Amino acid sequence: MKWRDGSVHWIQAHGRPRYDENGNADRMVGMTLDITEKKLFEQRKDDFLSIASHELKTPITVLKASLQLLDRIKNKPFSDIHLKLIEQSGKNVEKMAEMVDDLLNIRRLNEGQIQLEKEWFNLYDMLSQSCNHVKLEDEYSLILQGDKDLRVFADEHRIDQVVINFVNNAVKYAPLSKEIHINMESSEEYIKVSVKDFGKGIEKELLPKLFDRYYRADHSGKGYSGLGLGLYICSEIIKKHGGNIGVESIIGEGSTFWFTIPNLNKL
Ligand code: ADP
Repeated sequence: MKWRDGSVHWIQAHGRPRYDENGNADRMVGMTLDITEKKLFEQRKDDFLSIASHELKTPITVLKASLQLLDRIKNKPFSDIHLKLIEQSGKNVEKMAEMVDDLLNIRRLNEGQIQLEKEWFNLYDMLSQSCNHVKLEDEYSLILQGDKDLRVFADEHRIDQVVINFVNNAVKYAPLSKEIHINMESSEEYIKVSVKDFGKGIEKELLPKLFDRYYRADHSGKGYSGLGLGLYICSEIIKKHGGNIGVESIIGEGSTFWFTIPNLNKL
């Protein structure tokens, strides 16, 4: 249905006829329900399924090809080609594993199965050990700043997962930003961690959508794989901690993804 302001809505209607004394149906009694939100969500879910299958198919195709090639040259002396094919296989398995992990996380989140295991830990130590996979590649430097003694009460593994997601996104979507800054700040109430890159930045209109489930900016043809679940999972983890999550970005200068969790040190 089209509403007066021009917007289009999906309406679900249930009803039964009522009859006059001659047995002719002359009225309807029932109810109507605006199901626009539900419809849009279903549509996004459908879109998501086709994207997910497509995204998973790409690394599978590469992996299959690499293994076939390896098979063909398995009896030849070990060479750079062998090495390259093995590396390529490994990378693509990694991509697939990440996506399957995201999918599993989403299921658990939906079913309310993610339980936080909170304990006290030193945030600086955790952050300095986080993202070793990026440091090992030697292409990016992670610069960590903040109070070395700050302790937090949180699920260390889940918080690490959020930071890794931010840093991985910085590497993926801001590949030319060779420095990635991780900052920690604290106020009486909150502890804030932010991950800043110096990439292309994100358009203002997109910012509020990034944490939505299934949302991905249009990367068609750019070769970024992903399911659009990472930031949604992060926001669920942070919400569960009683904190906030957000992003600031300036086109041409870069983006800063941040989260806060309650500061329980003074209690
Ligand atoms: P995915 O990476 O699977 O698409 P995410 O939920 O992690 O899913 O990210 C959602 C979207 O946010 C990405 O598709 C990308 O467009 C955008 N994004 C995330 N981090 C950055 C960043 N550091 N710079 C630019 N864009 C980003």
